[in-house]
Amino acid sequence: MKAQFGIIGLATMGQNLALNIARHGFSVAGYNRSPERTKALMERVQDEPILPTYSLREFVVALKTPRAILLMVQAGKPVDEVVSELFPLLEPGDLVIDGGNSHFSDTERRIREAQSRGLFYLGVGISGGEAGALHGPAIMAGGDQEGYVRVEPIFKSIAAQGLDGPCVGYFGPGGAGHYVKMVHNGIEYAIMQAIAECYDLLKRGLGFSPPEISEIFSEWNQGELESYLLEITVNILRTRDPETGGFLVEAIKDTAEQKGTGKWSTQDALDLGAPTPTIAEAVFARIVSALKEERLAAERILAGPEPRLPIPPGEFLMDLKRAYALAVVTAYSQGFRQLRDATAEHGYDFPLAEVARVWTGGCIIRARLLAEMREAFRREPSLPLLLLAEPFRQFWKEGHESLRNVVCAAHKAGIPVPAMSSVLNFLDAYRTGRLPANLIQAQRDYFGAHTYERLDKPGKFHTHWEEASRC
Ligand code: NAP
Repeated sequence: MKAQFGIIGLATMGQNLALNIARHGFSVAGYNRSPERTKALMERVQDEPILPTYSLREFVVALKTPRAILLMVQAGKPVDEVVSELFPLLEPGDLVIDGGNSHFSDTERRIREAQSRGLFYLGVGISGGEAGALHGPAIMAGGDQEGYVRVEPIFKSIAAQGLDGPCVGYFGPGGAGHYVKMVHNGIEYAIMQAIAECYDLLKRGLGFSPPEISEIFSEWNQGELESYLLEITVNILRTRDPETGGFLVEAIKDTAEQKGTGKWSTQDALDLGAPTPTIAEAVFARIVSALKEERLAAERILAGPEPRLPIPPGEFLMDLKRAYALAVVTAYSQGFRQLRDATAEHGYDFPLAEVARVWTGGCIIRARLLAEMREAFRREPSLPLLLLAEPFRQFWKEGHESLRNVVCAAHKAGIPVPAMSSVLNFLDAYRTGRLPANLIQAQRDYFGAHTYERLDKPGKFHTHWEEASRC
C-alpha cells in the first residue's frame, strides 16, 4: 500500500505532524536526511499508519500519485537544497507544501520554479509549536489553490478547532500563507515583550516573586485577556528548578534570539511603510538582550535610578493590567494593519476577519479577544486600525491614563519598557492631527531642496531658506 501523504523533515514539527496526520486516518511516509530522527519517530509510533523511508527516492516511490509532500525542514537554504533534490524526482501534478517558516519571497520564487515543472506548490504557516503540531495547529495556507483544495481535508482534520470550525485558512496565491504566518509571529514578539515588561516591573519594580507574579497573571487570564501566551507564562513562573529548588525562570540566561519571522515582519513593514513600531521594538529588545556582556559592563558605567516603583502595589496593579491590555490590542492592531498594507504592495488580498478566525485556536497568539476582532473586521473589512472600532476603542479610553502612569513610573525607575512606551508613542502620534513633521519637511528642503507641501494650497514648493531667513 502506498502512503497518502509524505513528510520530509522529522524534527520536532515533522514528527508531531506525522503522528497527528496518521492518527486522523491518513497514511504517512516519512523521510529525514539523518536516519536517527526517522528512527526516533518510529519509536513513538504505536499503531499509526506511518512508513519510514531512508532515501529520497524510496520516499517518493512510497507515495500515492499525484503525490502530496510536506517539507518541515529548517527555513532558508535547507529548503532550497531539499527542493532541488526533490523536484527532479517528481511528476507533473505532484504537490509540494513548505510548512516551515520560510520567507514569503522565497516561497514566491519556489512556486515559479515548481510551476515551470508542472508541479503544485504551497507555502503554509503552521503555528502551535510542538503540542500544536501533535494535537491541533493553526494552518495559514497560500500558493496554488488547486493544490490547496487537494490537501484541505487533511489540514481540516488535523487542525485545532476554533471559532466556527478548524483553524485553517487559504489566504491567496504566492507567499500569502507565509506572509500571514510572518505577521502572526511579529504580533507574537510584541505580546511576549509586553508580558516580559510586566514581569520586570512586578519583579524589580515591586519586588514580587515569580509565583506572586504568576498569581497576578493568572487573575488577568480569567477574563477577556485570556490568551495562550499569558497561560504559559503563568505556568512558567510557578515552575521550580529540579537542580536548585529555586524558580527555574530565574536560572535562565536573559538573552533572546530574533532571527526569523519577527525580524522579517519588521523589515517588510519598513518596506511597506506600515506602522508597526511595537513589533519593531520587540525585535530590538531581543537584540539588546543579546548584548549580555556589554550590558554587564555598562551596568557599572551608566549609573541610573534604583529600579523600585514607589507606588502602592494595589494602585499600580490596576494600571498595569489596563496598560497591558492596551499594549496587546495595539500589537494586534499593528499586525492587522501590516496585512492590510501588504494587500496593495504585494498584491495579496487578506480577508482580515478570516485571518482573525484562523488565529482563534491552535496558534501561539490565540486569545479570547480574537473573536471580537473577527467581528470588527466583518463589520468593516478595510478598517484602518483595529483600535478605532468598538469594543477596542474602549481599551484606549479605559487604558491610556494607566499606560501613561506605567510608562512614566518605569522611566523614572530606569526599568525599560520599549513595547509599552512605543504603544503610547504610536497611539499619541496616530491620534494627533498636527504633528511636527512640517519642520522635518522644511529641514529636508533647506539642506536637500527636496521641496515641501503646504496646508493652504496644493503643489510642491521650494524655498531658498538661507536667503529667506536673512530677510
Ligand atoms: P528545525 O530545527 O527548524 O529543522 C530541523 C530539520 O531540518 C531536521 O529534520 C533537519 O534534518 C532538517 N534539515 C536541515 N538542513 C537540511 C538540509 N540541508 N537538507 C535536508 N534537511 C535539512 O525543525 P523544527 O523545529 O521541527 O521546524 C521545522 C520548520 O517548522 C522550520 O521552518 C521552523 O521554523 C518551523 N516551525 C517550527 C516551530 C517550532 O516550534 N519548532 C513552530 C512553527 C514552525 P537533520 O535531522 O538531518 O539535521
